[in-house]
Amino acid sequence: MTITPNSFQSALGIPEIIGCAFVFIVGSVIGSFLNVVIHRVPRSESIVFPNSACPKCGNAIKPYDNLPIISWLLLRGKCRNCKEPIAWRYPAVEALTGFVFLIVYCQVGLTVFLPVALIFAAVMISLVFIDAEHMILPNVITYPLFAFAILVRIVYPIVWPDFAFADMAHWPATYFAGSPAWVVSLAGAVAGALAGGGSLWLIGELWKRLRGVDAMGLGDVKMMLGVGALLGWRLACIAIFFAAFTGAVAGVAVLSRQKEKDMQTQIPFGIFLGTGSLIALLFGERFLAWYLSYFS
Ligand SMILES: [Zn+2]
Repeated sequence: MTITPNSFQSALGIPEIIGCAFVFIVGSVIGSFLNVVIHRVPRSESIVFPNSACPKCGNAIKPYDNLPIISWLLLRGKCRNCKEPIAWRYPAVEALTGFVFLIVYCQVGLTVFLPVALIFAAVMISLVFIDAEHMILPNVITYPLFAFAILVRIVYPIVWPDFAFADMAHWPATYFAGSPAWVVSLAGAVAGALAGGGSLWLIGELWKRLRGVDAMGLGDVKMMLGVGALLGWRLACIAIFFAAFTGAVAGVAVLSRQKEKDMQTQIPFGIFLGTGSLIALLFGERFLAWYLSYFS
């Protein structure tokens, strides 16, 4: 692993391997919390109270049985009390969140943007798993995501004048060059929200007029309003292209295995939008630089 200027090694003198282990552990603990969010939010339950309990025997889960990944392995995927199987999704989400946090840290470094990128990643993971299980993207997550994105877009350029969002160097944000940095940043956020949520809404509306079918859920639109506001229109487009491509491949695969060829089969598109948004956050700028180098 290369040592970046913003690593644990350079900034704090902590060996990089320990820093990375720390990031993974934090990620798996957050993943444990995301499991609660994924289970309770679609059921309109509180994510704070009551404490986790076995859904079968109601036995409260002890703190030592609630360690990310490890406890599930030690309990061999069964409740300590009644031996009811515990879904593999729990350790999977914990491990996945740990790895995603690690990749986010490697890409973003120990910078002021790291907390924002980690929160964004955690929100995407929860939306992907909720959509996969319940076919909804809850407003209680997508609305705060949008508010969070706008807040970050305004506050970051004010508090950290050296910090700039990548899309601030591109149209239409550059149209506001000369204005305070937060205005330029906010203009980029509005353009991003329109590109992310607006484009999906437009596609859904056109489809509805042409085919008379509600193809695009409003949850997808609300989700991409927030994603676009934070990442800007260029990365929002990458997220949607990625989602459309992988979603189409998955859709064909699902349809080909179905006996009845019913084109109305619902595919939770949020899975692909969430994955695409994460990839756009992590690799979007690098991908754009590589892609655009062929035209310059
Ligand atoms: Zn039990």
